[in-house]
Amino acid sequence: MRYVILGKTGLEISEVGFGCIPIIRLSTAEAVLVLRRAYDRGITLFDTANMYLDSEEKIGLAFVGMRSRLVLATKTLKRDRAGAEADIDLSLQRMRTDYIDLFQIHQLSMESDYQAVTGPDGALEAILRAKQAGKIRHIGVTSHSIEMAVKLVKTGLFSTVQFPFNFIESKPAEELHPAARQEKMGILAMKPFGGGALDNGELCFKFLRQFPDVIPLPGFDALEQVDQIVSLYEIENAVLPEDLAAMDGYRTELGQHFCRRCEYCQPCEQGVMITAAMNYPLVARRMSDSKAAGLAQKSMESVRNCTECGECVERCPYDLPIPETLKKHLALYEQHSGA
Ligand code: SF4
Ligand code: SF4
Repeated sequence: MRYVILGKTGLEISEVGFGCIPIIRLSTAEAVLVLRRAYDRGITLFDTANMYLDSEEKIGLAFVGMRSRLVLATKTLKRDRAGAEADIDLSLQRMRTDYIDLFQIHQLSMESDYQAVTGPDGALEAILRAKQAGKIRHIGVTSHSIEMAVKLVKTGLFSTVQFPFNFIESKPAEELHPAARQEKMGILAMKPFGGGALDNGELCFKFLRQFPDVIPLPGFDALEQVDQIVSLYEIENAVLPEDLAAMDGYRTELGQHFCRRCEYCQPCEQGVMITAAMNYPLVARRMSDSKAAGLAQKSMESVRNCTECGECVERCPYDLPIPETLKKHLALYEQHSGA
């Protein structure tokens, strides 16, 4: 494992971090083991969020007495001053620390959110105040909109930017990353596995390691996963022609319009399990038709409740045609289940 400096924060971090969403689904004891294994294998950057349920608490418990050896990053979805203030204090308490190395404004993709955050009584006021008080060391931002992310980078307000980046979402390398480098910002990459759409970890990291100043944040929910990814960093990276062909194969199969499982479209008032249903074909290709239909029965049956109101489409940062896609997936499910 190499250690690098995260842009103008000056923080020294491992060249790969740990995105802490998956530890939500582990028991506390399992989560502690996975987090500690990551640390033992050299990972020092742990990125979570106030909204990731008990993830912050599990981090706090895993690293009792080790605070100075870690770089802890978390985020708030709150747009107002009072909400952000409360989230900062909650994160500190849950992670059992008196400072957060990197506090990020979470999922700043819409102009209205940007105005709320940076306007009077906005979240940024609370964050700047917390920084003055020593509760926060550096301020970052995360986004799913490339146009907004570039704009945020150019404001000069933030020290880091976090955005999805993998070989089927490689657009950030064209404009966002160069803009962030120009501002000497740290660059963090969420969704290194395409939000679960990419099942070849080795290929994902062959791509990512071509960008050594872009720090991937893979999520782990098993010790073997930690070992597998960290081991990749112990060998020289070589992207072979057959790797490029394999990446092209994924691009062709998934197209530009695939669901990243970010869940921003939820909840649906009709109870449609949107994310699961949007990803039905990905699940189905890994097993027999009947098994896939059985496994996805609950989510796919919920699609029948869709009234095509379009509310989810407005919330999806990728403008996916959700109701149409769900209809197609329902037809595939019916075919698989023999309905
Ligand atoms: S379009 Fe369908 S899935 Fe989307 S919010 Fe409306 S009812 Fe739910
Ligand atoms: S449909 Fe859009 S918002 Fe919903 S999980 Fe997929 S990518 Fe995210």
